[in-house]
Amino acid sequence: MKTIIEPFRIKSVEPIYFTSRQQREGLLQKAHYNPFLLNARDVIIDLLTDSGTSAMSSEQWAGIMRGDESYAGSESFFRFEKVIKDLTGMPYVIPTHQGRASEKILFTVIGGEGKCVISNTLFDTTRANVEFSGAEGIDLLCPEGKIPAIPASFKGNMDTAALSRVIEERTPASIAMVMITVTNNSGGGQPVSMANIREVSRICKQHGILMFIDACRFAENCYFIKEREEGYAHTTIANIAKELFSYADGCTMSAKKDAFANIGGFIALKDETITEQCRNLLIITEGFPTYGGLAGRDLEAIAIGLQEIMEEGYLKYRIRSIAYIGEKLDEYGIPYIKPTGGHAVYLDAKAFMDHIPVHEYPGQVLSSALYLEGGIRSVEIGSVMFGKYGTDGSLISPPMELVRLAFPRRVYTQSHIDYVAEVIVEVYKRRKEYGGLKITYESPMLRHFTAQFELI
Ligand SMILES: *Cc1c(COP(=O)(O)O)cnc(C)c1O
Repeated sequence: MKTIIEPFRIKSVEPIYFTSRQQREGLLQKAHYNPFLLNARDVIIDLLTDSGTSAMSSEQWAGIMRGDESYAGSESFFRFEKVIKDLTGMPYVIPTHQGRASEKILFTVIGGEGKCVISNTLFDTTRANVEFSGAEGIDLLCPEGKIPAIPASFKGNMDTAALSRVIEERTPASIAMVMITVTNNSGGGQPVSMANIREVSRICKQHGILMFIDACRFAENCYFIKEREEGYAHTTIANIAKELFSYADGCTMSAKKDAFANIGGFIALKDETITEQCRNLLIITEGFPTYGGLAGRDLEAIAIGLQEIMEEGYLKYRIRSIAYIGEKLDEYGIPYIKPTGGHAVYLDAKAFMDHIPVHEYPGQVLSSALYLEGGIRSVEIGSVMFGKYGTDGSLISPPMELVRLAFPRRVYTQSHIDYVAEVIVEVYKRRKEYGGLKITYESPMLRHFTAQFELI
């Protein structure tokens, strides 16, 4: 077998600015040990997120020039709408400025006081929007999805036995919807199997409950289905996607993920009444129904990106470059969520920094260490992002303390990837030199974006 190479050539480059360890020490302190507060220029390899950070293709840039900026009925909208209708099989398409705008609109219409939304795992902005509407978010991830060290093919699956149990306890009328996140971003970028989606859909239909897909990484999920699930080896990604969406009543999407766009999102729906309610909100918060919160040029870039993302040569390179880091980590016994996911490597910070208790935020410590050692920016997905306080003020932690290294699409090359693996290994060797952190400032919602820390 020959090396799997990047399936693109580079037409335009951006410089990387280098810093010394000593400089980074000062920069990290100034950023209150929160990588979100660093200036991007001071980062060498930016793996904070794969959201909106993709490199667009020459075709997408051509689309940007072609964008029709008409306020109403722009040609770019009709191209955008057609691609999404073909992809999802859903008749109604609503453009929004990004994923959370779709969520805000959808949960304002469908959520609310006394309701709940059940998921394999709600992403942070999704959970925040569910809760902001007054509804409760309930995650029912399969048991294997909560054990980082044990590999399995579809660790993003929903626990369908638990779903049936919760439906019985809560009654179908109180359940606003079931939402399946593909791939499961907060749980390791792990895929959901077609069998699981089919079963969840069957249970929902049986009880008259709406089923939605959080489709941010649908193409990566479909590639895993093709690779790992029986019966799909000879099916195209487009046809796998079509089947996946056929089980749902609607979907939300951030085009900043699997659409290679720098901004954008949409809601796609089957139901006309819900669509109308969503459009009414769209007009007050985003814009006219044929542009949502976007420029015509963005609609073009998304339409083209949604087609490019389904090219198998791309997906093969994408998934392979992430798996490669996992293999490097295995050589040193470094703990991470196994197997590696679609868009990111998730280090198991609880095991990696096992000398730091959860209430001293081992994930934040590890994320800071990666920056200090190699100028790599990552994000904590653990007690900082999802921690809550009990009535006595003690920390209630989520099941896992993770650090996510998310790879922008088509941006970094193999030598960047090798460098990242080397830095992780170096931090692992010196892990005992790092101590815990405490929070000195936090906001009431999505606190991880702005929280400030100091060394204990
Ligand atoms: C990024 C993301 C969102 C929110 O999308 P934004 O464009 O960042 O608002 C929702 N769900 C998942 C799974 C995501 O990864």
